[in-house]
Amino acid sequence: MKIAIVGAGAMGSRYGYMLHKAGNKVTLIDAWKQHVDIINKEGLTVEENGALSKVKIPAMLPEDAKEVPDLIILFTKSMGLEPMLKSIKNILGKNTRVLCLLNGLGHNETIAKYVDRKNILMGVTLWTAGLAGPGHVVLTGDGSLEVQNNDPSMKVEAKEICSILSQAGLNAHYSEDVLFSIWRKACVNGTLNSSCTILDCNIKEFGELKEAPQLIRNIIKEFAEVAAKYGVKLNVEEVAEGIEKIYDPSQAGAHYPSMHQDLIQNHRLTEIDYINGYVSRKGKEFNINTPYNDLITDIVHAKEQLIIK
Ligand code: NAD
Repeated sequence: MKIAIVGAGAMGSRYGYMLHKAGNKVTLIDAWKQHVDIINKEGLTVEENGALSKVKIPAMLPEDAKEVPDLIILFTKSMGLEPMLKSIKNILGKNTRVLCLLNGLGHNETIAKYVDRKNILMGVTLWTAGLAGPGHVVLTGDGSLEVQNNDPSMKVEAKEICSILSQAGLNAHYSEDVLFSIWRKACVNGTLNSSCTILDCNIKEFGELKEAPQLIRNIIKEFAEVAAKYGVKLNVEEVAEGIEKIYDPSQAGAHYPSMHQDLIQNHRLTEIDYINGYVSRKGKEFNINTPYNDLITDIVHAKEQLIIK
């Protein structure tokens, strides 16, 4: 299958590498020129459980992409999604399926401005990846993903895409309710990512705070009220208990969430507007009070101004 990975940072490089290894014709598309140039010159450096290899996968800037693929997998950061969609208009063919695997909320609405609804697939992934530098992806652990078609008529095609992804070892499952899974994951990000970023701590340290149990429930309650407007039923206690299991160091306790890595460690902007900020914005639209998410969004934006000069 001809697959373009659009946004080929850490996660895009992971998916691109695994799909390429399984025999698909993969192209990595990214706006970071240094990254693209190194991949083309030296190959993508893949560090997998400590072992290094160089893999030849063609990479290009969005404006240089001309060939229409069968499948596009979107893996930009949330704030990079719309500019990226604008710059790849040339390769959005009539039958090009577009699978969105970004974290965060509201991407469906953004993609629908550029892509025929019948071609949109939404997903959520539990794989992880990191970048050690341009052209160098670091892979550890296992993962999975869920995928669902937007348009009810595209179920067979969505299942076929799951099977291509699974043949590459990505462990893809067809979901009957991916929107629920997307909101559920957004609750994890909206509690742990933003709190650990504001407090500058890891997940275990956050979980040990006496404020943590009530704080996460207050945040999730607002997510649940907004999610209900989209027909998504989140059980606050069930979501909170799921998050509390992650505090264990044998789970993700020692981990600093990606928002912490972005802002505190790498001085990059965060995806806050698509997580807590989305709940805050939509709360205003639906006349739902979201004081916790309003404050968290403001504090993370304030911290971005202090850190990113
Ligand atoms: P990433 O930051 O590695 O890549 C995103 C974009 O930023 C790419 O276009 C990349 O080239 C560019 N970029 C990265 N480092 C850069 C630098 N130093 N200078 C200039 N440009 C740079 O993002 P990611 O971790 O692959 O995440 C993509 C999406 O997947 C996000 O929505 C994220 O929340 C989600 N996600 C990430 C993980 C993970 O483990 N990384 C897991 C699940 C979901």
